[in-house]
Amino acid sequence: MATLLQRLRRLGPYIRHGRAGIAVAAGASLVAALTEPALPALMKPLLDRGFVAGAVQLWMVPVAIIGLFSLRGLAGFVAQYALNWAAGQGVQALRVRLFGHLMRAEPGLFTRHTASSLINMAVYEVQGATTQLVSSVLTLVRDSLTLTALLAYLLYLNWALTLFIALLFPAVAWVMRTAGQRVQRLTREGQRANDSLAYVVEENVLAWRIVRLHGAEATQTTRFERQSDLLRRLTLKSVAASSTMTPLTQILAACAMSAVIVVALWQSAQGGQTVGGFVAFVTAMLMTLPPLRHLADVTAPIVRALTAIERSMELIEEGPAERGGSHAPARAAGRIELRHVTLSYGAERANALEDLSLEIRAGETVALVGPSGAGKSSLVNLLPRFLEPASGSVLLDGVALPSWDVQALRRQFALVSQDVVLFDDTIAANVALGADVDRERVRHALRSAHLLDHVDSLPQGIDMLIGHNGRELSGGQRQRLAIARAIYKDAPILILDEATSALDSESERAVQAALDELMRGRTTLVIAHRLSTIEHADRVVAIDAGRLVEQGTHAELLARGGLYARLHAIQFRNA
Ligand code: ADP
Repeated sequence: MATLLQRLRRLGPYIRHGRAGIAVAAGASLVAALTEPALPALMKPLLDRGFVAGAVQLWMVPVAIIGLFSLRGLAGFVAQYALNWAAGQGVQALRVRLFGHLMRAEPGLFTRHTASSLINMAVYEVQGATTQLVSSVLTLVRDSLTLTALLAYLLYLNWALTLFIALLFPAVAWVMRTAGQRVQRLTREGQRANDSLAYVVEENVLAWRIVRLHGAEATQTTRFERQSDLLRRLTLKSVAASSTMTPLTQILAACAMSAVIVVALWQSAQGGQTVGGFVAFVTAMLMTLPPLRHLADVTAPIVRALTAIERSMELIEEGPAERGGSHAPARAAGRIELRHVTLSYGAERANALEDLSLEIRAGETVALVGPSGAGKSSLVNLLPRFLEPASGSVLLDGVALPSWDVQALRRQFALVSQDVVLFDDTIAANVALGADVDRERVRHALRSAHLLDHVDSLPQGIDMLIGHNGRELSGGQRQRLAIARAIYKDAPILILDEATSALDSESERAVQAALDELMRGRTTLVIAHRLSTIEHADRVVAIDAGRLVEQGTHAELLARGGLYARLHAIQFRNA
């Protein structure tokens, strides 16, 4: 039980805002608990004197009983409401911290956890577990107070007999602890099974076209069934573990009770016990049974809920937030330098980049070419620090990236890639993403990206909501929206990952013009597959298997007849 208390205490920072509610709930629970022994206490005078004519005023009986239950009902309501209010504050605080952590955590977090497990934690587990925790804690508090009040009354009536009942407690505590440990282990396994189940759904929802096309429905269903069945079995085991607590506790209680009744009857046979006293004692004792039973029932949900909430708290404490330095100029010149950079995705894999050195002047346009898997994306991902090199260093304007303030560093880059990510918000908000919406600038950016005509033809124009991940836009429109976003950001360095690949040739020319405009005066890195991009680049850098193989202008590299000339021969034969 001590460890349970310690674990509850760990929640402290999250329930701080709900302190007032907890205090009110505790007060109300205390009042409700104190009304419990009042009922057997009423029995005693009623039985001892009620049957003697004139000793008790009749009107007092309903007043006392109804008054008592009203008070108890009111106190119960207040306690429940106040505690749930406090819990709501706690859920809100925990959720916001969890999401805040996702916003700031170092990028490795996203490779360690699947999206579905993070969704599970932030959306479902925190809420479900807290609801469970609150109702269980409320029961725990109310019933232990009730129990204490009843025991105090019993002690007052007959201390010797009460000690019999007290013997119960260590035994009950032992049962609760043993079963609690098992419940905790099963809960952890259940969480993992739950995540895997959600992951199967996530994959299949995202990839439904491929699944149908390949007729993979049956294998995917089997996969789902297997995960679901695992979860079912774990849940059942957990229920079995928690359900053994109740009968065990009850048997213990029955042993104590029968002993007490025997002794009490024996005592009253010796005389010195009134009927009222005996009935009050037995009533109070019987009344200890429901709270005692609840106490046994409540351990499992508390353990389950705590285990779930702790997972979220561990995530928040896991891994540091991204750390940067203090170098934070408003705008970089855009000179990039890689010095002997080696990058690895894991010890057992070949290095994605191997001792790669490269210098890019401010304002230069560099086309990165190379076979797929050569390391072009990895190189580009180093720049905004989405990846960290294993050795070597990357510098922007002569300052090593770790010395840059992370946000200031990322202000220097605009990215247009093949997979355009759009948010469920207005077009204007998607263009301005993260910055204040300046409507004129948004229109200008859309115009430069040759998207304004289309947007103006929409009913709400730039205030149109574009739905989950821009479902309402065509591939080409999405790409142009991404370009508009880059134009709006007006960063000194551009990263283009074949930005115009999804465009038809007419809008491609238009967008290419917009991009040329955009690239002027900016450092630009293009992961290039198209000949026109490469021909216009100041320099072509060919990468193979993580190494820089050759660099020069398009014409120079063609003349050299190396990797680039070979790639060129394959890719642009028809161009
Ligand atoms: P390119 O962009 O030239 O196609 P990448 O930079 O994507 O190449 O990949 C370089 C190498 O790194 C490849 O061997 C690829 O398998 C590996 N790689 C890329 N991303 C990851 C990742 N997230 N985890 C593990 N390996 C990766």
